[in-house]
Amino acid sequence: MPGKTRPRILMIYTGGTIGMKENPETKALEPFDFNHLIDNVPKLKMLDYDIQHYQFSHPIDSSDMNPEHWSQIVKIIDYNYNDFDGFVVLHGTDTMAYTASALSFMLQHLDKPVIITGSQLPIGEVRTDGEENLITALQIAASREVDGQPTVREVAILFENSLWRGNRSTKKSADNFDAFRSNNYPQLARVGLDITFNKEALWRGQSPGHPLEVHLDMDTNVVFLDLFPGIQENVVRHILSTPGLKAVVLKTFGAGNAPGQPWFSKAIRDAINQGIVVVNITQCPNGEVDPYRYMTGLGLAQTGVVPGHDLTPEAAITKLMYLLGKKRNTDEVKHLMQCNLCGEMS
Ligand code: ASP
Repeated sequence: MPGKTRPRILMIYTGGTIGMKENPETKALEPFDFNHLIDNVPKLKMLDYDIQHYQFSHPIDSSDMNPEHWSQIVKIIDYNYNDFDGFVVLHGTDTMAYTASALSFMLQHLDKPVIITGSQLPIGEVRTDGEENLITALQIAASREVDGQPTVREVAILFENSLWRGNRSTKKSADNFDAFRSNNYPQLARVGLDITFNKEALWRGQSPGHPLEVHLDMDTNVVFLDLFPGIQENVVRHILSTPGLKAVVLKTFGAGNAPGQPWFSKAIRDAINQGIVVVNITQCPNGEVDPYRYMTGLGLAQTGVVPGHDLTPEAAITKLMYLLGKKRNTDEVKHLMQCNLCGEMS
């Protein structure tokens, strides 16, 4: 029974730099197999855990990650859910925040840790950050409260000295070891000499004891529309008339402001009238959309654009995929985009 004996952790290896090796001809890093990774972390044996693993048949660079891979990860977790205390997903950093966000929606009523980690340098390199990240992720996945319940009961990203909520995280650096951040939510744990959990920040489900519910269908008929001064009407209209398009994440200026020109409001209104859900999030890394602060934001809200509050881009787009995949109608999607489902918005 999980919780009573040696912690049982399932490691799921998807690929990413952590397990990569240099191709001798091209010198470019390529995904490599799991045994190579494990052989390079002899310290794993010092953890008194029962660690099992599952690896993608073809480990990938996370730039190749797509919703089918997310479903694969979800199925593995679902299949093994009752046999393990926690799960560690090894993943490339490039799309890690998308996967973390997607998994948080696809694994509803999760009450065990799903800790995603990776590294900036391959595990075989002398100065790798992979070994420490992997060991800390395992320790967090194994951590329990005094009553035996897991300390972390959500999808989280462990990187360098911090544990972040998955659906609040963003990759912030392409070369620092400290590569992730959550701009609108505190650390779930600080990793120093000890791992210090921020108990108040940890997610505690709204219905404890509810069995895990998994959702595998993500609807990818969604797009980002990133505004910039000078954006052309034909570009906006072209994107909004994409065949099959169901939802748009509009990345606006500051507190949720967009150009006030009539052509822009008309293009957005036409899309909404055709049943496309348009969600407003800010381009600023920190802060949230406040549609009532400026006329330019209010104008958008009046056309029927849904405020996305402080959702990250990764959480906004994957939440839309999830809600549309559940075949929610347009009004339900608009409503649920403004509700906090699993800690993704304040
Ligand atoms: N391109 C790599 C990936 O995302 C980068 C990394 O793992 O850090 O798979």
